[in-house]
Amino acid sequence: MTALEGKSAIVTGAGRGIGAAIAARLAADGAAVAAVDLVLDGAETTAKAIEAAGGRALAIAADVSSADDAESVMDRVEAEFGSIGILVNNAGVTRDNLLFKMSEDDWDTVLDVNLKSVFLMARAAQKRMVPARSGKIVNLSSVSALGNRGQANYAAAKAGVQGLTATLAAELGPYGINVNAVAPGYVATPMTDATAARLGMTVEQAHEAAAAAIPLRRVAQPEDIANVIAFLVSEDAAYVTGQTLYVNGGLR
Ligand code: NAP
Repeated sequence: MTALEGKSAIVTGAGRGIGAAIAARLAADGAAVAAVDLVLDGAETTAKAIEAAGGRALAIAADVSSADDAESVMDRVEAEFGSIGILVNNAGVTRDNLLFKMSEDDWDTVLDVNLKSVFLMARAAQKRMVPARSGKIVNLSSVSALGNRGQANYAAAKAGVQGLTATLAAELGPYGINVNAVAPGYVATPMTDATAARLGMTVEQAHEAAAAAIPLRRVAQPEDIANVIAFLVSEDAAYVTGQTLYVNGGLR
């Protein structure tokens, strides 16, 4: 029997990057996985890869910063899989700029997609998890939560995710629901590739520069993050809740 056999999981932002790796890993561990992304194409690519590997998957297009979409994702997954056991709030965006150049729109977008979405999705999921007296929620924070030049919006959102995670753990723990956050450092994904391009660097140059400051001397691959999330949603982590785990190669 695999670790997540009989469980269902929702992974947001699953069309690419870290989300695609999480979806693949949870499916390999036996979960039926709903791959949720803003654009159906990306979600379908991930779902098809899971099915090709022998897993069970469902592709859903949804905007996680919309309360209506959050509710309809839960309805759809419950109808298809019968329950909602695991929720991984991974969808995220950056709109980097120094404070004096940051628009209100860039602030709102980043807070809505990275932070408000976690509230909306968790609120919708707990309606199903509380009666079942069971559930696992993992939220994506970031090392940027500690402060990062040019990311006032993103740092605020990712720090907010940590406070929200600790609070949800306190409220939902009595109902058998574990809530944790993972805070990655530099992960090789389209998000960091786009940042490199904005800074006028090739992907290789950006990885080399980042790796020099990381004790493990490499940037993370999406699977490095997915492996930790697989642990947090497994029974091996049954007594872990309210934590933010930094997965950053030892970066300080
Ligand atoms: P990514 O490559 O940009 O992928 C993010 C995914 O989220 C995309 O598929 C994107 O869809 C989707 N998405 C964006 N807005 C959405 C919305 N409103 N509703 C539903 N889906 C939406 O990012 P990543 O690097 O894999 O990052 C994943 C998570 O890890 C994010 O929360 C990020 O902040 C966090 N993180 C990343 C790093 C890193 O170094 N990469 C470090 C720390 C934390 P579209 O493609 O359709 O826009």
